[in-house]
Amino acid sequence: MRVVTGGVSHESSTFTTVATDWQSYTDWFYLRGEEMLNKFRGTNTPIGGFIDGAETHGFELIPTVLAEAHPSGPTPRDIFDAILEEMLNRIAEAGSIDGVLLELHGSMVVGDLEGPDGIDDPEGHILAAIRQAVGPEIPILAQLDIHSNVSPQMVDAADILIGRETYPEIDMAERSRECADVLMSIVNDGKRPTMALHQIPMIWGIHQVTAHPPMREAIDELHRIEAQPRVICGSIATCYYLADVPNMGASVYIVTDNDQALAQAYADQLGTWIFDRREMWHGAAPTTCEALKIAEADGKFPVIFADRNDNTGGGSPGDSTGMLQCFIEAGLQNACVLYIVDPEAIAQCQRAGMGATLTLDVGAKSTPAQGQPIRMTAEVIALSDGDFRYGGPMLAGLNSTMGPSAYIKQDGVHVLLVTQREQPFDTAFSRTLGLEPRQMRYIGVKSSAHFRAGFESWAGAIHVVSEPSVHTLSDLTFKRLGRKLYPLDNI
Ligand SMILES: [Zn+2]
Repeated sequence: MRVVTGGVSHESSTFTTVATDWQSYTDWFYLRGEEMLNKFRGTNTPIGGFIDGAETHGFELIPTVLAEAHPSGPTPRDIFDAILEEMLNRIAEAGSIDGVLLELHGSMVVGDLEGPDGIDDPEGHILAAIRQAVGPEIPILAQLDIHSNVSPQMVDAADILIGRETYPEIDMAERSRECADVLMSIVNDGKRPTMALHQIPMIWGIHQVTAHPPMREAIDELHRIEAQPRVICGSIATCYYLADVPNMGASVYIVTDNDQALAQAYADQLGTWIFDRREMWHGAAPTTCEALKIAEADGKFPVIFADRNDNTGGGSPGDSTGMLQCFIEAGLQNACVLYIVDPEAIAQCQRAGMGATLTLDVGAKSTPAQGQPIRMTAEVIALSDGDFRYGGPMLAGLNSTMGPSAYIKQDGVHVLLVTQREQPFDTAFSRTLGLEPRQMRYIGVKSSAHFRAGFESWAGAIHVVSEPSVHTLSDLTFKRLGRKLYPLDNI
């Protein structure tokens, strides 16, 4: 049995100022053939799980191409076309195959949506192109992010879509194993997947951490449906709200064995269950300074403040300064900010050298929407090329880099400056610079929830906060939705 694998994964904000180019992909992953297998074998990643599935079930996995960039603006059309062409060529070169296992995000945008080159549903486009290439009989399965904007075209073109059901997304390898297991049940047991989509007229709010209520209840409800006769698998997508596209919004997609009506009935049932509870998934995020007052009154330390607006994992520039300013003005001791993207400040630190004290402006250089640069007189504690290995559970075992980095300190406030825009999934990178977040009393992260994977187990308290950024939801104007969505619209 021969199965091709590969992927295109990008979360594209139509609101960010961070542009996407070829380097955005090569900085993270643009891997061909065996490179892909060597990079991901044994890691908690989608491709890592496909490799595990192939080895367990004994099928041959033929790697094509994997293109993945950190979240940022739409991918230019010529880059997208080149990636898809390479993938289709490599699928054709693979010859006779028995299945396709893909890693897709589900929230990609390509080109200028105002112009003729724009694609508002690239994953639908990719799946349709692969379907055309392999024909109607070859099973196409894809793993999606939990933050997908799932379209009817995607559901039509694929046999099976399986979304991650954890957030922080620690089940990437597990969901890929599920894809491989389901593929075997199609090829060996003759299962005939029928998939149905229910698009919920809703954006999911801040309550989507799957380990905790109320989100835990939604996942339990999903599992209850997955346990029903003839249901093969099902998923909930909480959506990616920073894309102004017609399919933006939460959804449920359910796969049954050869019963389209049943799949639709379960998708509608769960979609309605979620929409009926729409207020439950939303909550307010205070400013860091407001949350700090609450944290001091509660007295549970270390306390983590998570700025959801400047989350680089959502495509934000990562250089907003609201949180840092609050820490400095409050005169905090044992406080750190993870991380601020500022290559210019890092270059100044490199010139000054380790142990030097210098005056520099930190952050907010990408756009005034990210706040004002903060004038600091700081000591350079450490410098690094940024290389590290994720400690997990998220992306466990994966080698990565934050690019040239610096650890600076002014009084009690410690700041890690980085070049790559990646959120802290665990403490591994900080420790390469000699900063142990566990020894801090106040920790600021630019992340919505993924940081929880490596921080929550030892945190005293966590506060999701909101600082001014290009992604402040109340400042965004949507023009292409073509339908009403809660809570943008009062429905
Ligand atoms: Zn996600």
